[in-house]
Order: sequence, then C-alpha cells, then structure tokens
Amino acid sequence: MPLDKKTEDRIKGMRKAELHRHLEGCVRVPTVIDIAKKHKLKLPTFDEMELEKIYKLRKPMNSLSEVLKMFEIAQASFASYEAIERITYEALEHAYDKENISLLELRFSPDFMLKGKDLDWEKSLDVIGSTIKKFENNHSFFCGIIIIASRSFGMNSVLKTIDFAVKNKNLIVGFDFADDEKNYPSALYKNAVKKLHQAGIPLTVHSGEEGHFSQVIETIQELGPRRIGHGVKIADDRTGKTAELVKSSGVTIETNPWSNYLTHAVESIETHPLKNFINSGLKVSISADDPEILDTNLNKEYLLAVEKTGLSFDDLLYTLRCALDASFLPPDKKQQAARQIETQIHFSKI
Ligand SMILES: [Zn+2]
Repeated sequence: MPLDKKTEDRIKGMRKAELHRHLEGCVRVPTVIDIAKKHKLKLPTFDEMELEKIYKLRKPMNSLSEVLKMFEIAQASFASYEAIERITYEALEHAYDKENISLLELRFSPDFMLKGKDLDWEKSLDVIGSTIKKFENNHSFFCGIIIIASRSFGMNSVLKTIDFAVKNKNLIVGFDFADDEKNYPSALYKNAVKKLHQAGIPLTVHSGEEGHFSQVIETIQELGPRRIGHGVKIADDRTGKTAELVKSSGVTIETNPWSNYLTHAVESIETHPLKNFINSGLKVSISADDPEILDTNLNKEYLLAVEKTGLSFDDLLYTLRCALDASFLPPDKKQQAARQIETQIHFSKI
C-alpha cells in the first residue's frame, strides 16, 4: 500500500523525542566499510549494495543467528576511539538532520561494544559523551547516555557494568538491562540494582519483548524501573492486570513497532498493541531501536503507527508528551526540548 505523502511530510516536519536507540544499531553501511578498510577488518563483502543485503534486516528474521551476524559486523566497527567518535557523531547527525529529533537517549552496552578490543570503557564513554556535548553546543538538540548490561554475558559482566555506571553517573542519564530475558529473569538482579537506586540512576529494562507477560510483572516488582523497553507481551494479559500494574507503577513503555515485527515479537505490524496501550491509558513512547540494522528511523516508525496501527496525530502527540515526561535527561534540557516540540505541536495543529 503506498504511504500517504501528506502524512509523510507532516511527520517529517514534526520535532520529536526518542528514548530507545542503541548506538551499536546506528552504524551506517559506508561507515562499516570505511572503518573496516582503515583497521584491516574482515567483512563478508566491501561492496555497499551487497553488504546492505547481509547487514540490514528488511523482513522478519529467519533466525536469531542471522541477526547476531549483523550485530557482529556493527560491533567490530567500534575499532578505535576515532571510530567510536565517528559512529556517535553520525548517529546524532542522522537523528537531528533526517529525523528532526530534538531529544534523544542513546544507549550502549560497554561489554558488548568493546569486547575483544584494546579499548578502555571509561575512555570510550568519554569519547561518546564529549561527541554528544560538542553536537549539543552547535545544535538545538539534547542527548543523554544510557548504559546497558547485557544479561547473556553473565552476572560478573552485569555487576561490572553496574559499578561502571555508578562510578560514571555524572556522564550518563540511566541504566538498562538488555537481551535474553527468558534465561536471565529480572529477579536475578534484585540485589544488584540497589546500587543503581542508591546512586539515583533511573532504570529502564528490556522486558516483555518475547516470552510471557508475567516477566513484565516480575521486572516491575523486582527491579522498580521507571520505563520498560518493548513490553508488547503486556497485551497478552486479557485480565488487564499487567497493564494495571504498569499504570499504577507510573511506568512508561518504550515501544519499537518495526523492531517487534522483524523479530516476530508481534505477528504483523497491524497487530502491534501500540494503539491498544494508548486506549488503555498507558504511558507509551515510540522509538526505532536499531535504525541502521533494522532499516528504520523515527519518521518511518511514526508513519507505520499512523498507517498500520491506527494512531491519530493526537495519539502521536500523546506519545511525544509521554517521551518528554519519562525522559531521564536533566529537567533543564527536557524543558528546552519540550519547548521546541510543543511549539511544533502547536504549529502542526494550525
Ligand atoms: Zn532495544
């Protein structure tokens, strides 16, 4: 079905906010090739068009290993501090120039990103932070870093990542748990997150992306997050109790519709529960997750939300307000971004 050009233009013109985007999912194909040449890294091909076919997931995945291979290529690109700076800068540039994003939270897993490399975690965080700062100084754009613990890397990795986040709490805005929730349930981290809470670092958790809605209940009860990443399984609870818990806990859901379709978390984009969440009075935001690997961006996500999941423009504005309210950025930055976005909202209504 051809997408409506007027809707597309209107969405492109909207200033936006995004809370759930992985830096490792932001490496562009030409950048992958450039960095590989420079650092003598292996690639399946150095041809841009051919690499796109291997690196980008454009239809629902056949297997997890297919997607892991894509992330391996992206991960290898973080080969030096210079490469990290370039990838970060390009991610910000794309968000600002192409997607009209005013407020962005960018997350990465230091243990995943830097595994097998002779690069220091702190120095890498410093490079990412100073690249963001420089970009913020030259654009009306606000960005914060979320540190991710990769659950499947084991408890030692999670504990190391938590200590790293606490030590560098002035450089980050939040903390996240990502990947394999099924084999590494939230209850495992009940004690570990106490350090984060004591340090005043807000928490978001990838939860209810696959598996059972009870995982979301466990996450909220055991970890006390302010936000949930994905959360699509909440809609499977026909009693509505999980949704009620999300609501009463004040939790905001970071939805990633296209990502959920590609990983089979939902059967089709039309059956994504985004509209259902809004109708149930939940606080929801819309994000692109891994834009380069999943071949998406925030404009596309908004367009899908309108064209395929039945959101109105008022619904989109509601998700934007939810994103602004739930952002982990400091109040002054949130207010400045909110002013830009609210003005745009006002203009778009005229
Ligand atoms: Zn994610």
